[in-house]
Amino acid sequence: MQKVPISRIREVNLAPLRQEGGYVLYWMIASRRTRWSFALQRAVEMATELNRPLVVLEPLRCCYPYASDRLHAFILQGMAENARSLAARQVLYHPYVEPEAGEGKGLLLTLAERACLVVTDDYPAFFLPRMVAAAAAKLAVRLEAIDGNGLLPLHAADHDYPTAYAFRRFLQKVLPKYLLEFPVEDPLQGGTLPDPPKLPAEVLRRWPGAGKELLAASRRVLARMPIDHSVHTAPARGGSREGVKALRRFLEKRLARYSEERNEPEAEVTSGLSPYLHFGHVYVHQVFAELAEAEGWSPDLLGPDTRGKRTGWWGMGVAAEAFLDQVVTWRELGFNMCTFRDDYAAYASLPEWARRTLEEHRGDPRPVAYTRQELEAGKTRYPLWNAAQMQLVREGRLHNYLRMLWGKKILEWTPSPQDALETMIAFNDRYALDGRDPNSYSGILWCLGRYDRAWGPERPIFGKIRYMSSENTARKVRVKGYLEKYRP
Ligand SMILES: Cc1cc2nc3c(=O)[nH]c(=O)nc-3n(C[C@H](O)[C@H](O)[C@H](O)COP(=O)(O)OP(=O)(O)OC[C@H]3O[C@@H](n4cnc5c(N)ncnc54)[C@H](O)[C@@H]3O)c2cc1C
Repeated sequence: MQKVPISRIREVNLAPLRQEGGYVLYWMIASRRTRWSFALQRAVEMATELNRPLVVLEPLRCCYPYASDRLHAFILQGMAENARSLAARQVLYHPYVEPEAGEGKGLLLTLAERACLVVTDDYPAFFLPRMVAAAAAKLAVRLEAIDGNGLLPLHAADHDYPTAYAFRRFLQKVLPKYLLEFPVEDPLQGGTLPDPPKLPAEVLRRWPGAGKELLAASRRVLARMPIDHSVHTAPARGGSREGVKALRRFLEKRLARYSEERNEPEAEVTSGLSPYLHFGHVYVHQVFAELAEAEGWSPDLLGPDTRGKRTGWWGMGVAAEAFLDQVVTWRELGFNMCTFRDDYAAYASLPEWARRTLEEHRGDPRPVAYTRQELEAGKTRYPLWNAAQMQLVREGRLHNYLRMLWGKKILEWTPSPQDALETMIAFNDRYALDGRDPNSYSGILWCLGRYDRAWGPERPIFGKIRYMSSENTARKVRVKGYLEKYRP
C-alpha cells in the first residue's frame, strides 16, 4: 500500500516506538471515518510494518465544551456507522461513550501501555490540540498526529496568511505537488493484518465498548447523559454515508447553480457539507476527487498563472472553481490561522487597522441594545435576523450569506466589539453543527475585519469595518419563504 507522505506526520512526543508492543493503537478523535483517512492509513501502514494487529479507539467524552444532544447525536451516528463498517474488517474497533464526566480518564493511557505506538488525528482548533499535548506528555510510547485536514498539509506553510488572496497565491504555487498525494480510499482493503486482539476484561469492565443501542443515539439514550439537553438534535444525521450523500446530491443537482445562486438562502444550492467536514465524516480529498471526476479534470489542466486569481487556475468549470475557492481556499485559510496562532479566536488576533477603527467607535451609541437572552431567542425588531437565529437554534445550520449579516448585526447591537465576538462564538459554537471549527473563528472574526480591508464611508460603531444591513440583504436576496419557515 502507498505510504502516508511525511508532510502529514507529526511526532508529538519523544517517546520511543515499542517494538515488543501487542498492537498499533489508532486514537480516532477528528477524522471520524474509515475511508479516505491518512490517519487510519498510517495506523494500518505501521501495523503492517510491525506485523501487529490494529486497535481503533473512538471515544466520545461528555464534558467537552458545548456537549449537547445535538452534537452527541451527530457524533454517535457517525460512530454507529464506523462500527458497522469495521465489524467485518481485520481490526478491533472500540467505541467508547463516557457515561459520566471523568469516567473515560485513563482509557487511552491503559490501552497505550501495550501499544507499539499511538496514532491520532492532528486538528488545530477547539480543545483537541491541548488534549493531544496533554496525552503526549503522559504517554511512554511514541505518539504521532496525522494531518488529514486539507488538500494542503498544515505545515506546508510556515506562517499565517492575512488575506484569502495571499493564501490563494501561495496555494497556486505549492498545491500541485500535494494534489498528487491523496490518501488511499480504503486503507483496510487487501491488507494482511494479524487477527485483532481481545481487550483485557478489566478494560472492558471499566470502559465497555458502546453497543448498538447506545450508538443509535435515541432520545432515551441521550437523556441519560450529562450533557445540555436544551440543544435538541438537528434534522441532519451524522456519519460518512450521509455526508457522501450530501456530496453527491450537491454534485448532481446543485453545483451547476452554485456560482450564481450560492448567496440565495432559499435556493439551497450549497453543499451542506460543513458539519461532515467538521466531524471528519467526509474528507476534502474525497470531495475533490469526485468533483474532479465529474468535471473530467486532470492535473495537467492546472493553469500557469499563479497570481492569486479566483478563477481560471484550477482548469475546471466556473461553478466548480467557485466551489473550490470556498472548500479549499477559504476553508484551509482558517486551518492555516489555527495552526500558527494560538489566539485564533481572540479579539487581539484582528488586524491592527480593524482593532483601531473598532476602538475609535467603541463609545458610539448603539441604535438598540439587546440582551444575550433576547438575541438568543430571536427577539429583535428585525425579522430576517430573527429567522437566521432561529434556523441556527433549531437546525444547527445557517446559510453563509445570512451568517455574515447575523454577525454584523450582533456587532451593531452589543455594547462593545469584544461583547459581539463573545456572543457570536457562544451562539455559533453552541448551536451550529459545524461550530468549534477553524472556520467558525475565521467566519466570526471576518465580521470584525479579519481577512478584509477597510471600507468607506466610515460609519458609527463599524468605523471602517465592512457594513451589511438586513434591509439591503432582504432587497438583494429572496427571503419570503425563509422568513415564514423560521419565524421565532
Ligand atoms: C459568522 C460566520 C460564522 C461561520 N461559522 C462557521 C462554522 O462554524 N463552521 C464552518 O465550517 N464555517 C463557518 N462559516 C463559513 C461558512 O458560512 C460555512 O462554511 C458554510 O456556510 C457552510 O455551508 P456549506 O457546507 O453548504 O457551504 P458550501 O458553500 O457548500 O461550501 C463548501 C465548504 O467550503 C467551506 N466554506 C464555505 N464557505 C466558507 C467560508 N466563508 N469560510 C470558510 N470556509 C468556507 C466549508 O467547509 C463548506 O462546507 C462561518 C461564516 C460566518 C460569516
